[in-house]
Amino acid sequence: MKCIYCVEDKPLTSFIKTEHVMPQSFGLFTNNFTLKIVCDDCNKYFGDNLEITMARDTLEGAYRFKFELKSPNEFKSLGKKSRIIIKIAEGECRGAYAYREYSQDQNEIVVKPVPQIGFLKKQPSEYEYYLLDQIPKKDYLDKNEFDLKNPRAIRAFGIDVNTACKVLSEKGIKFEYKGEAGLRENQREDLFCEVNALIDTTVFRAISKIAFNYLVYWEGADFLLHQSFDPARKFIRYGEKADYPLCVVGNNPILGDEPVEGNRRLGHIITVNWASDKISIVSQVSIFNGATYCVSLARNFSGNLQNIRRGHFFNVNNKKILDLEARSLIQ
Ligand SMILES: [Zn+2]
Repeated sequence: MKCIYCVEDKPLTSFIKTEHVMPQSFGLFTNNFTLKIVCDDCNKYFGDNLEITMARDTLEGAYRFKFELKSPNEFKSLGKKSRIIIKIAEGECRGAYAYREYSQDQNEIVVKPVPQIGFLKKQPSEYEYYLLDQIPKKDYLDKNEFDLKNPRAIRAFGIDVNTACKVLSEKGIKFEYKGEAGLRENQREDLFCEVNALIDTTVFRAISKIAFNYLVYWEGADFLLHQSFDPARKFIRYGEKADYPLCVVGNNPILGDEPVEGNRRLGHIITVNWASDKISIVSQVSIFNGATYCVSLARNFSGNLQNIRRGHFFNVNNKKILDLEARSLIQ
């Protein structure tokens, strides 16, 4: 049997594992769409490299907790390495970096300060925060309108006084402890935060795989083994880029009756169709019906132009998959 990703001929014993069109970490659905034509090596590679990122280090992954697909104690913090950067957006600690972590005491995911040091600016009078490996030298602070003479000029979060003194003295800055400020440990009230998530190639590949899997599920391996799918296949399996974007992200909802901003139905959506040129195949994927990813599965397809137009809604609440009348990409 030929694997649809590495395109190697392998014995049936290399196809033991089941590949899920929608990764299991985003829900197990009734009559789930699964594949038996992805070899175990590719299946493992995807699990260890793409799906783990999609689940633990994207906004979509974080929504699993918000929409209770996962319980808080299953949350795994990636700390500083994360693609998600959180900054506190209100109150005394505005501008400070934070990360999310499971709190056993509170049995929920809480926001905690990343180790950092803030310096008070003169105008406007607010703190600018730096992670410990990015602390500027005193010269920079002197030249850039920081108010170092103010008794509250410097504040440190997530580190003890001695460490703060040491880190600062290396940059020629004197630090004198005056008292505790700001963010308390185990803060219980809600804090408004600004969240920025980096959507990089790994995330695009993970999403593209969902689209590719979906088309394989409906059209079969023979159709997808056509060379027109090679750019998408190599991007997903090996991260090889094409000379055109294989996956882009936007805000427009896939379903025609839903708003760009505001409430949408809760579930994942996948659609596939011919593009407006009628010889390219495009898929739209949205996890939790948030951002919409557009995946170019084949360009200038030279095989059989069969009807592939299709769409499904994966209902996160009742775990049922609903057949959609897909919105046409042909305007
Ligand atoms: Zn393979």
